[in-house]
Amino acid sequence: MDFLLRDDDICFFTKLEDFKKVWSWFLETDCAKLNLAVIPFVDLKEFNITEEVRLKPLEENKELVIYLKKLIKKKKIEILLHGYSHTSFGKKFEFSITDKESLLKKIKKAKFYLENLLETKISIFVPPHNRLSKEALEAIKENKLDILASFPMSFFKIGFNLKYFYFFIKRFLFSKINYNCLKGFYFYPYILNFDSHKQLDCFNFLPNLFDFQDLLRLTYKIKKIGGSLCLTVHWWELKEMNLELLKTFICKLIEDNQIMLKFASEVFDD
Ligand SMILES: [Zn+2]
Repeated sequence: MDFLLRDDDICFFTKLEDFKKVWSWFLETDCAKLNLAVIPFVDLKEFNITEEVRLKPLEENKELVIYLKKLIKKKKIEILLHGYSHTSFGKKFEFSITDKESLLKKIKKAKFYLENLLETKISIFVPPHNRLSKEALEAIKENKLDILASFPMSFFKIGFNLKYFYFFIKRFLFSKINYNCLKGFYFYPYILNFDSHKQLDCFNFLPNLFDFQDLLRLTYKIKKIGGSLCLTVHWWELKEMNLELLKTFICKLIEDNQIMLKFASEVFDD
């Protein structure tokens, strides 16, 4: 079974000490592989740091950039593109808008910027707030990126053919059959191989809803059927109890030699 860890919202305001507090213990293990969804030009207003929209490039956090580059060289992390600035426009999230030209340019610029800054290659997109418009999906495909996220599947966005209908039914049935274990969430533990891109659903780390036993139950169910589980967290919400729960859970998985920690690109390239 493949197990992926995705940490979101790494950006200019991620303090190195906070990042280390959450991940040092894990990154020191031999099998550590961490997928980081990075915002290249974070909007500080989006995260309630300023009152006005103010974009800050990742490069202004020099010590974090140096540390991330070291981790990339050691093959401990993979960088995923998490939007451009994560800015919401009224009730619309950054990639829920429908201006395709602007979305195309944003993805191209953001990808080029991060690849150059961190000296790495990026092949995967993580939509802010897990929301994509039809035009955003087209812009992602035209930039030749795969998607590591769960977002509502609609034929209006993805197009309709028999293969996609089959994906829809399989995802629907898996979610319904495992309703209790998933507590009503939609989730499908296999890669969806669309004609122009691939996508893997993710499962949010929600300690208030899923305790240690719930997480293990879900993991072993997916292990039994040879699926993939991508667990997503936000470094800024991992404090004390939640961090301890995550640590205990990950340590339990590491002990199991049939569970392999993976980078997203490895899973998509298989
Ligand atoms: Zn985010």
